[in-house]
Amino acid sequence: MPELSHLDKYRFRRDLEAIEKALGRGTELVSVYVPPGKPISDVANYLRNEYSQSSNIKSASTRKHVMQAIDSILSRLKAYKEPPANGLVFFVGHKQIGADQTDMVAFVLEPPEPVASFLYRCDSAFYTEPLHEMLIEKDTYGLVVIDQGEATLGLLHGKRIEALKNVQSLVPRKHRMGGQSARRFERLHDQAIHEFFKKIGDLMTEAFLSRNLRGILIGGPGYTKEQFATGGYIHHELTKKVLAPYFDVGYTDENGLREIVEAARTVLSDLDLMREKDLVQELMEEIRKPEGGLATYGEAHVRHALELGAVDTLLVSEGLRKARATLKCSNCEHEYAATIDDGADLGPCPKCEKPALAVQARKDLVEELTELAQPLGTKVELVSRESEEGELLLKAFGGLAAILRYRVA
Ligand code: ZN
Repeated sequence: MPELSHLDKYRFRRDLEAIEKALGRGTELVSVYVPPGKPISDVANYLRNEYSQSSNIKSASTRKHVMQAIDSILSRLKAYKEPPANGLVFFVGHKQIGADQTDMVAFVLEPPEPVASFLYRCDSAFYTEPLHEMLIEKDTYGLVVIDQGEATLGLLHGKRIEALKNVQSLVPRKHRMGGQSARRFERLHDQAIHEFFKKIGDLMTEAFLSRNLRGILIGGPGYTKEQFATGGYIHHELTKKVLAPYFDVGYTDENGLREIVEAARTVLSDLDLMREKDLVQELMEEIRKPEGGLATYGEAHVRHALELGAVDTLLVSEGLRKARATLKCSNCEHEYAATIDDGADLGPCPKCEKPALAVQARKDLVEELTELAQPLGTKVELVSRESEEGELLLKAFGGLAAILRYRVA
C-alpha cells in the first residue's frame, strides 16, 4: 500500500485530535470499526441488535443519545455497498458543549491502513487506539552484523526485525597450519577476508538495493565492521544509506540484529527529526544574511511570495491551529477573507465595528496553503514540534516560512 504523505498524516492527526476532544455526558459515544471485506449487511444487523438492546438503558438522555448515534451510523452505512479498501471507522455521538448542552457529532474515516477486526464500542469517549497505531512510522532499515567469522543480514520494519541471511566465512582461524610461512598464511587470510566481504556486499545489493530503505545499520564486535564498510565492498547506492556510527555489538547472528537495533535507538529517532532540523537551519541561514537572503516568514509575506510562484520550499509547523475563512458581517453585509485562530473570538466587523461577524466558509490554513503551493511546484514540508528547530519555526516565525527561488520585493 502507498505510503502516507506528510499531509495525509497531518489531516489524519487533526481529525483524531477533534475526535478525542469530544466527551459524552454518559456512556453514549459510539465507535464502530468495520474491516475490509465485512458485509455491510452484517454490520447493519449488529447495529440494529445494539439499537434494541440500548432501549434498556436507564438514563433517558443517554438512551436517546445512543439510539440516535446508532441510527445515524445505520443511515450512513447505506452509502456503501461494501467497505472501502481499508475499511471504515465511525465515531458518532452527542458531545458535551458547556454544562448542560450537547451537540451531535459524526466522523466517518477511511483509515490509512486496514482495520484489523470489527469492533463496536459505546463509551464516554471515542475509542481511537487502533488508529494511533496506524500513525506510527513504519520505515524500513537494512541491518548488517559482521565479524571475520560470520555475518547476518536483516531488515527492521517499524519495530519488527526480520532476519534475512546468515553466512559463515571461510576465513582461517588465528593459528596457522604447521609448515606454512607467516607471509603465506597472511596472504591466504587476507584473500579469504576479501572474498567474504565481497560476498556480503553482493548479498546486501541483492537484499537491499530494490527496497526503499531509510538507512542501513552496520555493526559487529571489533574492527571488522569498519574494514568492511569502508573497503569498497558495498554498492555505491547503498553506501549513501549507511548510518554513522558503526555499532559495537557482541553477536553476529540473529541476536546481533536485535542488539544493533537496541544500540541504534537514539540514532533512529534523531533521524526522523534531522530532515526538519536541516530545513529550519537552512531558513535561518538565509534570514541571517545581511541583505536578506532567499527566505521570508509570517503569513502575509509567505502568501505573497507563494502567489508569485517564488517559493521553493514552504515550511509549515504542525502546531499551527488556524483556518482561512470567509467572514461576513450580518449588520453591514461586509464580506472578506481572513485567517482566524481555531476557537478564537472573531471580534468586531472591521467596517461597521459591530460584533456581527459570522464564518461563511473555512478551510484549515495548512491545507489551504498546500493547495495554493502545489500547482506552482512548491515543495511543502510539515515540520513537527519535536525538535528545537520545530519549536522555533512555530514560536519565532508564526509557524510559516518559505525558502525562496528568488528574492521578492
Ligand atoms: Zn459590519
